Amino acid sequence: MSLSEQDYRNILQKYEEKRSRALQQRDLRIQEVYSKVPEISRIDQQIESFGIRSMQAYLTSHEDPVQLLKKVRSEVEDLKARRSFLLRLAGYTEEDLQPVYECPYCQDTGFVDGKRCRCFEQQLIDSAYERSHLKHLLQQNNFDHFDLERFSPVQREHEPCSARAQMQTILSAVRQDIRSFPANGPLNYLLTGSTGTGKTFLAGCIAKEILDKGYTVLYLSAYDLVAQLSDRRFHYRESDPSADNIQFMQDCDLLIIDDLGTEAPNKASAADLLHLIDLRIQNGRSTILTTNLELSAISKLYTDRMVSRLLGSYRMLHFVGADLRLSHLQDPVH
Ligand SMILES: [Zn+2]
Repeated sequence: MSLSEQDYRNILQKYEEKRSRALQQRDLRIQEVYSKVPEISRIDQQIESFGIRSMQAYLTSHEDPVQLLKKVRSEVEDLKARRSFLLRLAGYTEEDLQPVYECPYCQDTGFVDGKRCRCFEQQLIDSAYERSHLKHLLQQNNFDHFDLERFSPVQREHEPCSARAQMQTILSAVRQDIRSFPANGPLNYLLTGSTGTGKTFLAGCIAKEILDKGYTVLYLSAYDLVAQLSDRRFHYRESDPSADNIQFMQDCDLLIIDDLGTEAPNKASAADLLHLIDLRIQNGRSTILTTNLELSAISKLYTDRMVSRLLGSYRMLHFVGADLRLSHLQDPVH
């Protein structure tokens, strides 16, 4: 689960391939247009050679340079207008002759203003966490597969409402938050409720939406996360590749920590997790925690400080109902 130089080189290589593929396809489309409308090809050649020809004219003619420049500009404008007209006539748009990049932000270079683009960051994360379950999780856990019918409409004893009604409320709140993300600040959720009530499913749905908006997401079970934090503490080396993993935990736009409470933190790892959560709150990064535990149990396992952070900065979403996985086995309709 660490990022090597080879990983980094592979990603850069993929960018080069993607970009040259986009340019090749653009060139093919241009050739197609040229063969259908040869005049466009001639116009492009003329526009291309204008720079050199106007320089030659400038050096050899006695005309006023400003007037000369004006003349050249207007000739280029005329040619461009003619080109547009011919393109439209042949059923093309200007966009058809532009390269189509996978990432419009960095145009498949991986960098924007000298900084790594978000798509690059996500690839680094994917590469470092190849074995994390995010990809697998997102195939099933997304809003396309969300079926409210699976949640029981019957209110159970000691529960405030039915699982379906509760899920409806949660869904509309979450969808609203996603729509206004990131303008309205980070999405910090604590998803609580017993096993199989849909917490990890919803976390996956949110992850997919945030990824689709072009932000980076890292999914880790609490167990893996705490193990990595401890590992880092005990095997700290200056050039440790796991430093990248820790950096991703701190920097990714959305971090999902699944199943808090299944790990057995010691004092040090509890402090590390609190530090991570604090850091992410300070930096306005979004974090989703899922847990079967009540707040009192979290406070025992971690500390009161952890609970107070969660209460202060996280939206509590409580899931109710029976274990969906079991009800699915008992009743194939739901
Ligand atoms: Zn990009």
